[in-house]
Amino acid sequence: MNGVLAVAYLSAGVLFIRSLAGLSKQETATSGNELGMVGMAIAVAVAMVTWLVGAHDPSAQALHLRGTALALLAGAIGVGFFIGATLAKRVEMTGMPELVAVLHSFVGLAAVLVGFSSYLHPHGISTEPVAVVVHEVEVWVGVAVGAITFTGSIVAWGKLKGSISGKPLLLPGRHGLNAVAALVIIGLAVPFVQGGAPNGVWYLVAMTALAALLGVHLVMAIGGADMPVVVSLLNSYSGWAAAAAGFMLSNDLLIVTGALVGSSGTILSIIMCRAMNRSILNVVFGGFGTGDAKPAAAGAAITGEVKELKADEVAEALSQARQVVIVPGYGMAVSRAQGAVNELTRSLREKGVTVRFAIHPVAGRLPGHMNVLLAEAGVPYDVVLEMEHINQDFPQTDVVLVIGANDIVNPSALDDPSSSIYGMPVLECWKARLTVVLKRGMAAGYAGIDNPLFTLEGTRMLFGDAKKSIDALVAAVRKG
Ligand code: NDP
Repeated sequence: MNGVLAVAYLSAGVLFIRSLAGLSKQETATSGNELGMVGMAIAVAVAMVTWLVGAHDPSAQALHLRGTALALLAGAIGVGFFIGATLAKRVEMTGMPELVAVLHSFVGLAAVLVGFSSYLHPHGISTEPVAVVVHEVEVWVGVAVGAITFTGSIVAWGKLKGSISGKPLLLPGRHGLNAVAALVIIGLAVPFVQGGAPNGVWYLVAMTALAALLGVHLVMAIGGADMPVVVSLLNSYSGWAAAAAGFMLSNDLLIVTGALVGSSGTILSIIMCRAMNRSILNVVFGGFGTGDAKPAAAGAAITGEVKELKADEVAEALSQARQVVIVPGYGMAVSRAQGAVNELTRSLREKGVTVRFAIHPVAGRLPGHMNVLLAEAGVPYDVVLEMEHINQDFPQTDVVLVIGANDIVNPSALDDPSSSIYGMPVLECWKARLTVVLKRGMAAGYAGIDNPLFTLEGTRMLFGDAKKSIDALVAAVRKG
């Protein structure tokens, strides 16, 4: 039996690795997701069977308890399945980042609960003094990472949803506060381990409260355009919290899965940091990108005239162009314009116009947000290019269509040191002959700052909901 279980665990681990590999490319993302689902189903089934097989007490009372526990477990899985499936079905693409943040918080909370349970009721842990200490250290680390992940993710959820201000909370001496909190968390581990279970539980409670506060503070200090890195970092923390829970439960698959999520989240955070020109060390210590000298600076005031075009004028410019680049942003997701954008692309290509897409790594509200939407609409993958592959092509581009994007095309990121997004690479669409920006009004983007692009010489605005504007463009291009 143990051999079968080991093979099943190994298969689930391989499926998770294959799943991650699949998710790294748009073409294989769906099959990657499916492999992950199969792996998780195997993992849950094996965990249940392992628990049943491992319970040796044949007494009537033990059997009764096992039956009750199994019924509770099945009930919990059923309720979890129902809530998860309903949420996933209902959630709009614009709400995905919040959902992801909430899911990270669940992993953190689970690690905290597993830690307390494993400390107060150790199960299957050797009574050897060294093993006991190792187990208590595992509990300490798991609960600390879990508590930081839990509260950090809740704050991230609030910031993404807009219920907590996107402005960074910059307490005086915040780095010192973080360092003191980290030192106290490490220091309290000594009396905790010396006290032995269950005497050290109050140290664990105090540390959990402190770690929870640290999680709140770390994420509250991060503002506006830097949130994408926080989301991917919390993703990585949730993986490490799961791995720590795996150590506490002596569950190898949970350790492997947690390590996979943790390390892939770390890699994603590094990629996002590079894309935003931020340092990973600053991210880890919190409050990055918000230099004390210029908290959430809005940049220099914008002067100049906003020039407008009508849909048929834009359609004419598009039809006469040879090279068109489309820059999608969060507004495309809000207006669900991706299908219409695909229609426009097809109509222009039928007229012999070369149409390509420029994707900024933090466009939208989730890593890969725009790629998912364009893939869903059927836009061919080979015309969708990442920022570093298309930025140098803007000077040879006739028309750029900026659809509901703002921060990712803000020139002040390159030339205004007083701007809070200064230093972040952006899509340099203003170098094209004509840049047309589709948005409803003059509202700022997620970072909450003005955008000088809108008043540049070569920029024109097409005001209105992106979907309606694109529908009008499709009709005008087909007519013309
Ligand atoms: P922005 O948030 O900068 O701008 C979106 C623009 O879309 C707004 O200015 C808004 O202007 C416009 N808009 C909204 N609804 C519509 C609509 N129905 N039709 C037309 N336009 C609309 O988006 P970007 O994609 O340019 O930048 C992403 C921002 O989000 C960055 O600051 C990034 O750091 C941040 N972020 C990204 C995450 C990620 O992982 N990708 C995660 C968290 C944050 P108006 O209201 O005038 O129409």
